[in-house]
Amino acid sequence: MNEFSDKLLQWFDHSGRHDLPWQQQQTPYRVWVSEIMLQQTQVKTVIPYYQRFMERFPDLATLAQAEQEDVLAHWSGLGYYARGRNLHKAAQIIQQQHHGVFPTEFDEVVALPGIGRSTAGAILSMALKQRFVILDGNVKRVLSRFLAVAGWPGNKRIENHLWQVAEDFTPHERFDDYTQAIMDLGATLCTRSKPNCQACPVQANCMAFKLNRVKEFPFSKPKKVKPIKQAKLLMLINNQQQVWLEQRPQKGIWGGLWSLPQFETDEALVAALNPSVKTHSEAVSSLVKWKAFRHTFSHYHLDIEPVKLVQEAPADWQGQWHTFTQAESLGLPAPVKLLLSQLESEYVKNG
Ligand code: SF4
Repeated sequence: MNEFSDKLLQWFDHSGRHDLPWQQQQTPYRVWVSEIMLQQTQVKTVIPYYQRFMERFPDLATLAQAEQEDVLAHWSGLGYYARGRNLHKAAQIIQQQHHGVFPTEFDEVVALPGIGRSTAGAILSMALKQRFVILDGNVKRVLSRFLAVAGWPGNKRIENHLWQVAEDFTPHERFDDYTQAIMDLGATLCTRSKPNCQACPVQANCMAFKLNRVKEFPFSKPKKVKPIKQAKLLMLINNQQQVWLEQRPQKGIWGGLWSLPQFETDEALVAALNPSVKTHSEAVSSLVKWKAFRHTFSHYHLDIEPVKLVQEAPADWQGQWHTFTQAESLGLPAPVKLLLSQLESEYVKNG
């Protein structure tokens, strides 16, 4: 044991989290699903999603046999949908290549879609009791502060240094508890915006604290301005109050989810609806436009202008009519979900 892990484990015993749903009946499958959900999402948001997911897909075989649409419907609202698609794909690979048993070798685990070095380390350590190291966002923050590491952790050189530190700090006993403990420290005390250093078990040796520079670590990513893209989302309604939805291609944003038809300009939208009409200016002026809003992805901002129209869909369009109730059970991107609920309440209000 080193001093860092020693103090951390003592703290973990009385103040760590011991009642998270994935800490109960710990299996590789349950830990794996939780680690994927937690990759870009906070614990309190993940818990209800995790519980619903486990009720529907209690084991690996059930997940592997499910339709992708069903999996994405249970991911709906969590964001970063590639995580859900990869989870599903990986379950099928385990079913086919590992006879349905979660692999126990690091190389096999890290070869599965959606599982990087840190996630593989977390699963092997916590569920399979093998000493592997993790370095997720929380751990990077804790170690960067503890050692006052100057540099952005996304930089390869800095990241390699942090992996080495993580390796040195991980004890050879109770490494599974240590894995949970360091994640807990990052999530509950050494938080991004308001670290509670007064309650921290490793404060006495924390360099950033000693230097009174906690807020500076970890260094931020060098700024790059995100580009802004425009999109018109068409809320096409028919006389039976059904809304037209199309399934997005597997690749690209919102891959595999159901969404509203998307266009770059009003003209393109009108032309797609009425291919035979030559001048579209009149048709453009008849569109009912809702207030535009911004949805931000990791690489760009998407300024969305919702456009409502009561009309039948052209015969050659690929998609389906759905009632509002049917749409609720589909995998929908968050902004589309929001628009449909506003649209529904408009119809309910107007009878
Ligand atoms: S003393 Fe503060 S900055 Fe240092 S590890 Fe603890 S909580 Fe983080």
